[in-house]
Amino acid sequence: MTAPTTLTSRPVRAYAGYLFDLDGTIYLGDELLPGAADLVHGLREAGRETLFLSNNPTKNPQMYADKLTRLGLPTPVNRIVNPLVTIVAWLRKEAPGAGVFVIGEEPLQEAIRSAGFRLTEDPREIDVVVASYDRHFDYRKLQIAFDALWQHRRARLVATNPDAYCPMPMGRGEPDAAAVIAAIEACTGVRCEANVGKPAGVMLQTALDVLGLPGQDCVMVGDRLQTDIAMAVDAGIDSALVLTGEATVEMAGLLPPERQPTLVLPRIDALLEPFRTS
Ligand SMILES: [Mg+2]
Repeated sequence: MTAPTTLTSRPVRAYAGYLFDLDGTIYLGDELLPGAADLVHGLREAGRETLFLSNNPTKNPQMYADKLTRLGLPTPVNRIVNPLVTIVAWLRKEAPGAGVFVIGEEPLQEAIRSAGFRLTEDPREIDVVVASYDRHFDYRKLQIAFDALWQHRRARLVATNPDAYCPMPMGRGEPDAAAVIAAIEACTGVRCEANVGKPAGVMLQTALDVLGLPGQDCVMVGDRLQTDIAMAVDAGIDSALVLTGEATVEMAGLLPPERQPTLVLPRIDALLEPFRTS
């Protein structure tokens, strides 16, 4: 008897496009997870598209492309989508020409600046406050956001991602964008109007646009129910939960049937099943 490749009764189907979360799905820290290399190489050999999604706004897509390449999965930079990509897409659509105050790290500031937006710390000129994961967050930045949102009442508040904390090796973590959003909302009474990281639809749509594929031909693969799987379910596309990161079978079982992932996989390479020749 062979070990089951999925914990769901549905067969694994072949898709044209595969959207992968990174941490807990493709790698943990600096190590590829079991089966990840075989899977990505196998899908590419079968002519399938692969794209990688991260909610981390402290790194630019090139840093992820370099890391994947270093780990043996050479990936072009346009196959990485993270909040640096989606915040620029959001600003172009919702706030063209805006003066932007970024509470975030240098790669995020650079992405917005190089997209042609003016970065400003003058509350009278700020149209959009972008709240993000910022390890240099301080009272001065909070005051600028407060002045723009509460005193001048002209700015809009948006966030790169909704994560409470970023998991780190050895059971550590770092406060993420949710802490910065909460600080600004608490003092201004202004609610953050948009988040451009998972599970927001803009993240998924940006990825599908890059691949030029409709959602029904793609699957979203990830280890977190509230971000990776929720985003796919909200958009009505198939999803695969891998048990190599945060979520467990028991956690998935607590969801109502309509919020359940399409597939539950102990190992990510179960997705290769339709391509295996017997
Ligand atoms: Mg993950």
